[in-house]
Amino acid sequence: MGKTALSIGADTFQFFTRNPRGGAAKPFDKADAAKLVELLETNHFAPILAHAPYTLNACASDAGLRQFAEDVMADDIVRMDHFPGAMYNFHPGSHVKQGPDVGIEYISSMLNRLLKPSQKTVVLLETMAGKGSEVGRTFEELKAILDRVELRDKMGICLDTCHVFDGGYDIVNHLDDVLEQFDKVIGLKKLKAIHLNDSKNPMGSHKDRHEVIGGGFIGLEALVRVINHPSLRNLPFYLETPNELPGYAAEIALMRDRSA
Ligand code: FE
Ligand code: FE
Ligand code: ZN
Repeated sequence: MGKTALSIGADTFQFFTRNPRGGAAKPFDKADAAKLVELLETNHFAPILAHAPYTLNACASDAGLRQFAEDVMADDIVRMDHFPGAMYNFHPGSHVKQGPDVGIEYISSMLNRLLKPSQKTVVLLETMAGKGSEVGRTFEELKAILDRVELRDKMGICLDTCHVFDGGYDIVNHLDDVLEQFDKVIGLKKLKAIHLNDSKNPMGSHKDRHEVIGGGFIGLEALVRVINHPSLRNLPFYLETPNELPGYAAEIALMRDRSA
């Protein structure tokens, strides 16, 4: 993965720890991991970001499904601890008629069992589009989770530009206001990563359909303001646009060209 990132001009990457739909991960290969760590150091990579399978639901009503999410994440975090500075991102989950408060309680209590004082990997909650009964569609919901976590220094937020726009935050016309709100509610110190995506749908659609940079309702100029914003410009950015490698290479080149 490191070599692929280099080949398209990237200096970080995001990857799924296992099949995004869940299931078993490949056995951990220590020699392979050491090689990657060396490549990341030699090429001065920004922190790499692991993404939990998006089918995990830490706030499912079914106790077995909640336990499965917890077991997978525990295993993933142990693996990620082999990569200095790495972070681990997950979708808070869907409360499915139980209500966000029940969801928030399940998610935070899972984190309190999961997080260990000795771990180095920072765990990120992703801002969600609010599709269906997703928890994390507002900064307030994410803050409510963080507030219940004891080891808060092991936690952060990953802001997905498509998701927050879909969730109703106008990052196109009022980026400063949105970030001010984030700072007031959660604190910008907690913002650790950006998923840089355009959106196939207008603001507030709650659909979660990513579009290529400049091809959607957010648009190129608004995304350029995101990467250059003084509060964001030093964060790592991860593309999740519908592309193959040449498309990613072109978007990276375009963003580098437009970065102030
Ligand atoms: Fe995600
Ligand atoms: Fe995302
Ligand atoms: Zn998404």
